[in-house]
Amino acid sequence: MKNFKFTDHLFFLPFMIALLILLVVKGAAVKSSWLIEKENLRDFTMTAYCPGPCCNGPWAYKTATGKNMGYYIGKGIHIAATDPTVIPRGTRFVYQGKEYLAVDVGSAIKGRRIDLLFFSHAETERFGIKHHQDVKILR
Ligand SMILES: [Zn+2]
Repeated sequence: MKNFKFTDHLFFLPFMIALLILLVVKGAAVKSSWLIEKENLRDFTMTAYCPGPCCNGPWAYKTATGKNMGYYIGKGIHIAATDPTVIPRGTRFVYQGKEYLAVDVGSAIKGRRIDLLFFSHAETERFGIKHHQDVKILR
């Protein structure tokens, strides 16, 4: 039986530490990629707007991308206005089982607030304002 000397342990120690670091880093990478796939963002205030002047003033029927709301509606894409520093433009998210694309902004849409585009003003009034809502970010 070989007698291990203290120096043998010292020789393997850096490899053991390197292996440990590798496992921890790999675990963190797996966890973060899972978060990117399905990231739940909590505690949003949800409101709704319609395409018309009642909700948009001079920017009626237009979005911040330069494309008209009709462009997205025609493609069957539900759109929303977000604060781009919280939910960047082009982000897809799911709310109440429906997928939305963040393409618009609004002077009142700051921080954890999302404005959902509905087809008619009556629908926006039915929706009202909903607090403490969660959305699921798709990437
Ligand atoms: Zn309206």
